[in-house]
Amino acid sequence: MYKIEATDLMKEIMGNYFRSLGKGEKKIAWCTSVGPAELLRSFGFEVYFPENHGALLGATRTAMDYIPEAIKCGYSGHVCSYTTADIGSFLKNQTPLQKHYNMDGVPTPDLIAYNTNQCREVEDWFTFYADHFKCPIVGIQPPRYLNEVTQDEVDLVVKQFKKMIPACEKASGQKFDLDKFKETVRLSKEATLLWQKVLKTSTAMNAPLSFFDGTIHMGPIVVLRGTQVAIDYYTTLLAELEDKVKNNKGFLPQATCRIFWEGMPIWGKLRMMSDLFNQNQAAVVASTYCSSWVFDQFDENDPFESTARAYTGIFINLSEKAKMKMLSQWFKEYKIDGIVFHDSKTCFNNSNAKFGMPLRLKETTGVPSLVVEGDLCDLRFFSEGQSITKIETFIEQIQDAKVLA
Ligand code: SF4
Repeated sequence: MYKIEATDLMKEIMGNYFRSLGKGEKKIAWCTSVGPAELLRSFGFEVYFPENHGALLGATRTAMDYIPEAIKCGYSGHVCSYTTADIGSFLKNQTPLQKHYNMDGVPTPDLIAYNTNQCREVEDWFTFYADHFKCPIVGIQPPRYLNEVTQDEVDLVVKQFKKMIPACEKASGQKFDLDKFKETVRLSKEATLLWQKVLKTSTAMNAPLSFFDGTIHMGPIVVLRGTQVAIDYYTTLLAELEDKVKNNKGFLPQATCRIFWEGMPIWGKLRMMSDLFNQNQAAVVASTYCSSWVFDQFDENDPFESTARAYTGIFINLSEKAKMKMLSQWFKEYKIDGIVFHDSKTCFNNSNAKFGMPLRLKETTGVPSLVVEGDLCDLRFFSEGQSITKIETFIEQIQDAKVLA
């Protein structure tokens, strides 16, 4: 049985994080998952990420119980199922946090911050809570779908970051401290560079970390970046994975092909998908999703500009051309034989198969693709039988082509 020993430590860390939110000892800021968490942490806020909660609802397959509650309140069943599952769960006052971490519910916010670098949905989603809690809300609205991030975009976003400061000061009761901000960015940079190294261990032919395991081990880089805890965790995980590479111990030693996963995970089917690829000797070794928390441009000596640049240049916020360039580089780096696009029905923003990218990528890189229809949380949009057939056929075609080559 292949096991990543650091998993137990990761569970402990995530448990401590949630329990500390539940204690209510610190002021709480809610933040989007690729939002300005470092700036918020520099004010001493504990940061809570509703998207992480959405993923939890998906992974525990409770999302389906809650989405109808949000629909009753006027939200379409076709918008972001993180949003509808999260709002529905709130309306029902039920969350896996109660069972798993003994919390009363989601923590009450003192400040809500969002960044539409990923989608406009987060603005609507977070505004629901700002209205409910009568809580101050601040938003960053960067330009979208960029070929590259220029100084103009950076200047604009820096201005918006700075505009957040009075609201942060008021809600936290603390004055802005540039040195604290620099220190938080430094901690975040260290953690994110470790996370990048963790992901890159799977460039080894006998890869130690699958995409599916990556979605679990990315917990701390999402919710604890800017803390020493995240650095310590990824130091431990990296040492273990590097050791596995050195000893040629991969999660699928008999792999016959290497797959790239593009788009959101199908949270409620993570295990089923992992087993399906493994049973067919296909190693899913890399993804855009897990790579979305690599912010290698962070620089504590230039905290505003570097965080503005990094958060504006995330994969989801780039143009199709810029995305294709990144994917082509990843294909080479991870020696990819095929790419699976998850066409997530309630997340248009993170579904890249709609405008011909799979075909264009095949033309420019030679890497074949498959589009799997599904969703991050709403399993009504996922047909298990059909997806299994499509994936098995796709893997077989890749394997046949490799034998003939
Ligand atoms: S990126 Fe997609 S899944 Fe994430 S919050 Fe926006 S719509 Fe929802």
